[in-house]
Amino acid sequence: MIKRQKRLEKKIAAERINILIRKARKIMIEDYDTAKRYVFLANKISKRYRVRVPEELRILFCKKCYYPYRSDRFRVRVRKSRVITSCLNCGKERRIPISPRRGEKLK
Ligand SMILES: [Zn+2]
Repeated sequence: MIKRQKRLEKKIAAERINILIRKARKIMIEDYDTAKRYVFLANKISKRYRVRVPEELRILFCKKCYYPYRSDRFRVRVRKSRVITSCLNCGKERRIPISPRRGEKLK
């Protein structure tokens, strides 16, 4: 029975993470501070319940300082068939290889 409850907890945690990051994305243009808080909360839930943030949501914010990627908060460059995003808050860089096959999987 405990096992079942844990699975349910994880399911709820995953849903909350999803909602929080999507909300953050919607409001980040008008209210960046609240968006930041939502992303931070989503990551807190992710750690607490050991639920991974889905790939398509993880690319929406900096994984180091949790700042959502808004056009004036990060920089994107393309170099050697890689997309390099740099966070303008903490300077964290992330490299994403450009591969058509992998791109197809992303929604
Ligand atoms: Zn950052």
